[in-house]
Amino acid sequence: MAFEQRIPRDTSANLFAEAQEYFPGGVNSPVRAFRSVSGPPLFIREGHGSHMTDEDGNRFLDFCCSWGPLIHGHDNPHIREKVIETVVKGTSFGTPNRLGNQLGKLILDNHRYVERIRFVSSGTEAVMSALRLARGVKGRNKIVKFDGCYHGHVDNLLVKAGSGLATLGTSSSAGVTESVARDTLVLPLGDRDLLERTLTEHAGEIACIIVEPIPANNGLLIQDKSWLECLRIKAWKHDVLLIFDEVISGFRVGFEGAAGLYNVQPDIITFGKVIGGGFPVGAYAASKEIMDYIAPVGPVYQAGTLSANPVAMAAGLAALELCLEPGFYEGLAERTAAMADRITGYAKEKGYPLHVPHVGSIFWLAFGNERIERADQIDPANMTYFKTIHHELLQTGVYLGPSGYEVGFVSSAHTDLDIQEAVAKICAAMDVAFSEG
Ligand SMILES: *Cc1c(COP(=O)(O)O)cnc(C)c1O
Repeated sequence: MAFEQRIPRDTSANLFAEAQEYFPGGVNSPVRAFRSVSGPPLFIREGHGSHMTDEDGNRFLDFCCSWGPLIHGHDNPHIREKVIETVVKGTSFGTPNRLGNQLGKLILDNHRYVERIRFVSSGTEAVMSALRLARGVKGRNKIVKFDGCYHGHVDNLLVKAGSGLATLGTSSSAGVTESVARDTLVLPLGDRDLLERTLTEHAGEIACIIVEPIPANNGLLIQDKSWLECLRIKAWKHDVLLIFDEVISGFRVGFEGAAGLYNVQPDIITFGKVIGGGFPVGAYAASKEIMDYIAPVGPVYQAGTLSANPVAMAAGLAALELCLEPGFYEGLAERTAAMADRITGYAKEKGYPLHVPHVGSIFWLAFGNERIERADQIDPANMTYFKTIHHELLQTGVYLGPSGYEVGFVSSAHTDLDIQEAVAKICAAMDVAFSEG
C-alpha cells in the first residue's frame, strides 16, 4: 500500500538527501536508514524526558530510547548536571581518573557476578575484547554462538549457520573471511543435545560459548531459565568459558542484568548501552583470576585512547546511581508489563495475530499468537504489518525503532499517562494494519 504522510517530513527528507552525499546510504549505522519502514528517517533535533522532536518540529513519544542506553529518558537532569560539571574541566586526559574509579566501584559493589572490570568505548569493543580474553585464557580458537543472538559487528560473530546442523559458520558479511567464520560454530537456541554433541566433537578446540541471555536484537526471544542453567553446566563440564553478552540486558532488566535475574554465574560479562548514560561506553568484567589475563598484568592485549574518559564515566555514574534507587527496576517493569499486557489483551479481543512479550523494561511487538523463542520462528512475511504499524505511529506521534526485529524500551521518564497514550495509539495502529485484508 502507499503510505500517506499526515505529518510534515520535508526537513528530514532534505537532510537525508544531503546526508547521501556524505555517508554510505546517508547514515552512520545501517538500520537508521528506515529501509524496512516507510519514508525518510527522522532527523532528531532534541529530546527531553520521554519525548523527542524532529527537525520538522514533530514531537514523538520515544520507545527506541537510542536503542537502549536511555533508561532514564532524554536529557535527564541528574546526568546532565554531572556531565556539565565534568566537561568544563577537560574531556580526556589519557590517564586514570577518579570518576573511572567511582563507576568501577559502584558496579562491582552492586553486582555479585563480577570482580574486576575494564571499560572500553562500545558494546562491539567489549565483545571483541571478551572473545580475545576467552581465547587467551583457554589457548583455543573456536567459539560457539547462537542463531538469533547479535553481538555487535565483531568479525567472528558476523557469521551465520552453514548448511547442516552443527556446522562451522559461514560469513554473513563481505570482508569477514571464511577462515575467521570457520572458527565460529553457530547453533540454534535451546537445542541441548546439539550443544552437547558439538562440545564433545570439538573437545579441546572451543574457548567459549557466547550468548545473549535475553536475546533482544532479533525480536525478543525470552529463554527458559533452565536453558541458561544448562549452558552454565555444560560450559563447566566441557571446560569452556561462558560469556553473557549483556550489552542490552545489563543494568536494564535489573542492576545485575540477566545474570542476576536468572541467577546464573557466567565467566565473563559484556556491557554497553545503559552503562554509559548516553555516552559511548562499553565494558567487560569477570573474576579477578580471569581479568588478570589482561594487559598490563597478563598476556592478552587490549587498550583504548578514550577508554574510561571522564565525561563518559560521569554520565555512566549518574545513570547507574539513579538505577540503584529503591524500587527503580520494579516500577519500570510494572509500567512495561501494564503496557504490554494491555496491547496483547486488545489484540486477543480483536483476534489480531500479535502479542507483546516483555522482560523488565524491554518489550517487542511479536506477530502470531505463539511464544517465540528462536530466530527461525519469526515469519518475515509479518513485517508488512509492522511497516503499517510503524507508519501509523509516526503519524500519531509515537516512535518505535524502524524495524519489526527491534525491541522497544520503556524509560523512567515514561509516565503512566505516556503509557496510556501509547497503548491507545498502538491499538489504533493495529486496527489499521490488520483491517487491510
Ligand atoms: C548493541 C549490542 C552490541 C553492540 O554494541 P555497540 O555499542 O552497538 O557496538 C553487542 N551486543 C549486544 C547484545 C547488543 O545489544
